Amino acid sequence: LATHRKPPAILKTKLQLPVKILTGPGPTNCSERVLQSLKNQVLGHLHPEVCQLMDEIKAGLQYVFQTNNRLTLALSASGHGGMEACLTNLLEPGETILVVKSGIWGERAADMATRIGVHVEVIETEHTSAVTLEQLEIALHRHNPVAVFMVQAESSTGLKQPLEGFGDLIHRYNALFIVDTVASLCGEPFFMDSWGVDATYTGSQKVLGAPPGLSPISFSPRAETKLLQRKTKPSSYYLDMTLLGNYWKCFGNESRVYHHTISATLLYGLREALAEIAEEGLRASWIRHASAAARLRKGLELRGLRSYVKIPQYQLSTIISIELPPGVDDTIIVQRAMKNCNVEISRGLGPTVGKVLRVGLLGTNATFGKVDLVLRALEILPSKL
Ligand code: PMP
Repeated sequence: LATHRKPPAILKTKLQLPVKILTGPGPTNCSERVLQSLKNQVLGHLHPEVCQLMDEIKAGLQYVFQTNNRLTLALSASGHGGMEACLTNLLEPGETILVVKSGIWGERAADMATRIGVHVEVIETEHTSAVTLEQLEIALHRHNPVAVFMVQAESSTGLKQPLEGFGDLIHRYNALFIVDTVASLCGEPFFMDSWGVDATYTGSQKVLGAPPGLSPISFSPRAETKLLQRKTKPSSYYLDMTLLGNYWKCFGNESRVYHHTISATLLYGLREALAEIAEEGLRASWIRHASAAARLRKGLELRGLRSYVKIPQYQLSTIISIELPPGVDDTIIVQRAMKNCNVEISRGLGPTVGKVLRVGLLGTNATFGKVDLVLRALEILPSKL
């Protein structure tokens, strides 16, 4: 028994955490209503109350994705899980995917696809401009991919990829249209069905305003057909959308089939977050995010700071990237904003490290009050450098 470790003394201290203003690219702060819901006692993952919650969440997700897709559910994973689920389920080894890369997320998708033996072709855009229909058509013609991957809100650069018209084009080339909506859903318009998107996923912790840990995902009938026609099983059991669809009762099945133990607690939070969005209405939420972003951009301009993305059509309402002025140390800015104002501002990510600062106005933080706090946090900083 002498070899047993003793209980760590550190665990005898009381858990104490600060409250911070999360105005980076995510996670964002939860509302009081969402926080309250998390206090409910844990329930079993197949208890009737949890099954009812899953049905309610599914209806809420169909609303926020603007889809009638029956294969709509929430994965027990963060946004990366959603990305991995799309690629693992919709592509088989040896097939080709065309990835639009405007920042780190296209890069990650390409990495994941390579790991599952998929052949990757890339269209790379500048950080500050989106891919056009003409550019995509040339690549579709050349590479004949099974699927195209695009990111609506490239959170590493602040770039918005317009999506209208792409679904029809991609379908003309018999490919599936996969879109990452992690950093945009509910903050930017998104119409899964009318834009012809075949698979999309988001993260619970961004505009939705729930805790991290669930990744809402939806597959179109066309994507379902691809699942049925696979010659091999998806390499991930955990992310197998057919098994998950059975658990979420997506296929008209009588009863749910156990797949894994979903976190009831996270479902409570997501249910309440979706209820709040349903109450506000998607359109009102998009307008609120656009107004907050416009106020921030105006304030930045008045302080002599410039948006990294210059073309208004490509500027996001959710993640605002600011050109890092020459000679300014981004690490100091970020540290001081937190220390002096309790405000999170983020450095660049991946290809934009040292080039930008990033502000996220997501969910409950897309308000004029939070914008003014961010501006104050930025204002006091340069003079102290
Ligand atoms: N895609 C985009 C566009 C993102 O912004 C993020 C998170 N910043 C992810 C995917 C990955 O999500 P997560 O960190 O929740 O795994």
